[in-house]
Amino acid sequence: MDGEDFRHWARAAADFAVRYRAGLRDLPVRASTRPGEIVAALPAAPPEEAEPMADLFADFERIVVPGMTHWQHPRFFAYFPANASPASVIAEALTAAMGAQCLLWQTSPAATEVETVAIDWLRQAVGLPEGWRGVIQDSASSATLTAFLTMRERALGFTGNREGLAGQAPVRIYASAEVHTSIDKAAWISGIGERNLVRIPTQGVLRGMDPAALEAAIVADKAAGLLPGGVVACVGGTGIGAMDDVAAVVKVARRHDLFVHVDAAWAGNAMICPEFRSLWAGAEGADSIVLNPHKWLGAQFDCSAHFIRNVDQHLDTLAIQPEYLRTHGHDGIVNYSEWSIQTGRRFRALKLWFVLRAHGLSGLREMIRNHVRWGQALARRIAAEPGFTLASAPVLSLFTFRHDPGDGRDGDAHMLALLQAINDAGEIYLTPTRVDGRLAIRFQAGSMDATQADVERAFEVIRDTARALS
Ligand SMILES: *Cc1c(COP(=O)(O)O)cnc(C)c1O
Repeated sequence: MDGEDFRHWARAAADFAVRYRAGLRDLPVRASTRPGEIVAALPAAPPEEAEPMADLFADFERIVVPGMTHWQHPRFFAYFPANASPASVIAEALTAAMGAQCLLWQTSPAATEVETVAIDWLRQAVGLPEGWRGVIQDSASSATLTAFLTMRERALGFTGNREGLAGQAPVRIYASAEVHTSIDKAAWISGIGERNLVRIPTQGVLRGMDPAALEAAIVADKAAGLLPGGVVACVGGTGIGAMDDVAAVVKVARRHDLFVHVDAAWAGNAMICPEFRSLWAGAEGADSIVLNPHKWLGAQFDCSAHFIRNVDQHLDTLAIQPEYLRTHGHDGIVNYSEWSIQTGRRFRALKLWFVLRAHGLSGLREMIRNHVRWGQALARRIAAEPGFTLASAPVLSLFTFRHDPGDGRDGDAHMLALLQAINDAGEIYLTPTRVDGRLAIRFQAGSMDATQADVERAFEVIRDTARALS
């Protein structure tokens, strides 16, 4: 592709981006593609000869776009949001243009130093004290895995990497049942094992772990010759937004010299608003915190902010430090590949830096406050509507509800039918969860482009679909 062609198609891509975003409200949120449909539309073998860009672009618009679920749709109320603000999209285009590897300071000095600054801006924005350091990981799952590895190494006196785990006493990690499945996976991959992920019972409407039960579990494990390694605190669980009392968890953990990792992948973003910080009170006493700007702050996937209180333990666990990496901390040089699982690294900081500047903290706070206010107003309206009940109270902008058609059919099958009818119609998109073993429908307001009218429209769609099924 010569320079003129590159310019032409780069502009075509930019035009597509603007057109796509402007037209989202008119598209069904969730793809109605059937499994295998896209594969059937594509040739089975790769092309031997070069194809014109015009053909690629046409197939992209004809085959790919209609098969996508539209995560940037203003009425995307499923899962958690994955916002990509226009400023972030532009930063990603610039990152792609440079195609740089950002593993070491010297492989991309500006990428490293922008990362240091942007992550420290975010630390200040969420109210974490000075002294906490940060790194941008690809995902909360990776950040949590590094925390599990650090917990394991601390518990084993930093012998695990060298000696392996054979013959070592089992390391025990404590968490409630409300945590994300990435915690289970981290237990598998770190070699700690699922059976050593101890589930602590929860209490109260926020379903936080019972600190007395945590204390008892640690004491019992010690007595049994097992090695307590750390605790995962849940700040905004995936299902209903469960909240552990972080201060209480930290207090128990300190008593036993255990490492505390806080998973605040979604809810942590709300901490840019001081009024929500009571939800993670005590977080500054933890050892590791993950929150995803790629969820609720508009810096698109992948951009996971991982804050670490004691970087030395983290590096003692993760840094291979061959000669060319052995520069950490000297002359202000930081090699972020020593802080992560992967060696190669994308320039993820650029989009975070762009987003923080393009919106300002006040713009981002206003967005989150609107989502919380609109989500909570919708929860009140649904709770007041005959036949509907809340299965869990709102936590920030997330709540769950059930519908009873009044004919004895209020079970899981009716909830699934309701959910499917809502999603098939395409105006809004919702996902299910289980609350106390029974199916419930989740709602979260979080799309950057959502308006109050979009959230209010969700009420009409939910009510009318439920009536039509009754
Ligand atoms: C989304 C989410 C995760 C996983 O995030 P990834 O960045 O996709 O790995 C983990 N924990 C919680 C609480 C989440 O909401």
